[in-house]
Amino acid sequence: MDLVRRMMLWLLTQPVLTTITFRHLGCVIDRAAWEAVRVAISDNRILIEPAGLSAISGYNAERDTFCMQPSLFTVAAYFPSDCATAAHELAHAAADMQAIAALSSADSELIAYVTEEAFRLRQGLPNDGPGVLNVGAPPLTQAWRSPLHDALVAARSLASFVLAHPGASLQAPTVAIVRDALGRDPTYRRQFAENTVTSNGLRRPIVS
Ligand SMILES: [Zn+2]
Repeated sequence: MDLVRRMMLWLLTQPVLTTITFRHLGCVIDRAAWEAVRVAISDNRILIEPAGLSAISGYNAERDTFCMQPSLFTVAAYFPSDCATAAHELAHAAADMQAIAALSSADSELIAYVTEEAFRLRQGLPNDGPGVLNVGAPPLTQAWRSPLHDALVAARSLASFVLAHPGASLQAPTVAIVRDALGRDPTYRRQFAENTVTSNGLRRPIVS
């Protein structure tokens, strides 16, 4: 996982990511938040493990650990999309580190989606949260019509808002659309019910 770790640390030094700044329910995504995540990964207070073979990438706030696809960053054609996936998971970590008890799993997902879509907009990528498999999917497939697609469209509109208004709070009506849409997706609905810990700070001590 060394390549994935090095790429995530590199990404956290790149303005394409670190100038994405916004607020949501007390959670502040800004340059300081991105730098805090970079330092936490460098110091091994946040770990990076391989996800299972068929598993998609994720972040576990209880264990302060990224579970990332080992193939990330290894295929040139997928490189920009892999960076967007990493940006999504890094946003989960930024939200976790701020230890905001009131932040729900759905809110953390919203923060991650907005970050990912802002990153994708900057790179000229299509919106595609679920991963590279859906790139180029024809418009009338099930995936296109799914709740996840509705969430992505609304998240992209929040993303273009925060790119135009750095540091702004996410607009409540559009936030509600993303949260409702994610709640209609079976995978996220289960995840929100099972994983309620999303922002409890880091547990590993600083080792000097
Ligand atoms: Zn996520």
